[in-house]
Amino acid sequence: MTHVPPRHIYVHVPFCRRRCSYCDFAIAVRHDVPVQQFVDTLAREIARRHPDAVAHDVDTVYLGGGTPSLLGGDGVARLVDRLRERFRFGTGAEVTLEANPDDVSRESAAAWRAAGVNRLSIGAQSFAHRALAWMHRTHDSSQIERAVSAARSAGIDNLSLDLIFALPASLERDWRNDLRRVLTLEPTHLSLYGLTVEPATPLARWRDRREVHEATDDVYEREFLLAHDTLASNGFEHYEVSNYARPGRRARHNSSYWRHVAYDGYGPSAHSFDTQERRWNVREFADWSRRVTEGGDPAGGTEVLTEESLETERIYLGLRTNDGVELDPSTLATDGEMLDRWASMGWALRDGNRIRLTPLGWLRLDALATDLTALSSHS
Ligand code: SF4
Repeated sequence: MTHVPPRHIYVHVPFCRRRCSYCDFAIAVRHDVPVQQFVDTLAREIARRHPDAVAHDVDTVYLGGGTPSLLGGDGVARLVDRLRERFRFGTGAEVTLEANPDDVSRESAAAWRAAGVNRLSIGAQSFAHRALAWMHRTHDSSQIERAVSAARSAGIDNLSLDLIFALPASLERDWRNDLRRVLTLEPTHLSLYGLTVEPATPLARWRDRREVHEATDDVYEREFLLAHDTLASNGFEHYEVSNYARPGRRARHNSSYWRHVAYDGYGPSAHSFDTQERRWNVREFADWSRRVTEGGDPAGGTEVLTEESLETERIYLGLRTNDGVELDPSTLATDGEMLDRWASMGWALRDGNRIRLTPLGWLRLDALATDLTALSSHS
């Protein structure tokens, strides 16, 4: 692929202790994590794709998964050391580690901080015991609180927590209470995802056997809007459909995806994008590891984006954020009527040539992005 040097680095660490009931990510369930094998293989992949050290400063590094915190304090330090052999971390680089609450101790957090990690994204998901057990999570609510306190005591104060909403009614989960609990922990950032049923997950099997019923659209909408109102009134900016930040604490790494800039991804299933082409690695850990160890390319595929598909992505990604999307004046002239209707329905705000979706608009994101894409391709 045409090479644009990356300023944003993603590493996919595929290991998990068990599969969560809703998860279809590329993971490898391991009781004993092969830390050294993974770190060595990752270093080989990077060396193959970047034979020379990258001379410019990298702005963000994101260790995601899977469960990268399963590498432990020492394993993450070894991984970051290998990254620093090829990439120069800029002053103030954002270095994020995804962590499950049960992996965050004072010792592990101190080792991560010493290695350069300055942001944790903690997979809390809920504070309700029944919901956590149903999701097959490996932690309980007290471990979320302990994880936050351990991270802070180690000097990591940029803390994001994930929660899942729109759970099945049969769980009797109290969403308002979970929002209240998470606010008492004073995170800098929150990511809230509506539960979706992905094929070939335990959840899909439960649904197909009618053992569980998905939340209705009404519940989804009510909980999405309750979160928006609650968090906005507590000083959070709803800056992307699923993400909220305290002032100045937006996720810089994820924002690079929404801004459509270049990033490099390493590890099984990781994607890379150089503003023209996308490539993705093979999904399975064993396959990725074998290919890299044999000196091959772990790419599972590449795609050159046409002008049209780049424009479609630009519109979709822009509409996801509260920055919105700048439209061509001819698009606006062709069918300003549709955009006026969106505004009158409370779905969008128009500011010159820029369109921004409101929370009500985000509830219809896919449909509105499709309509807008069709509009701009005909103008
Ligand atoms: S911990 Fe995360 S990646 Fe692992 S199974 Fe659960 S949701 Fe999936």
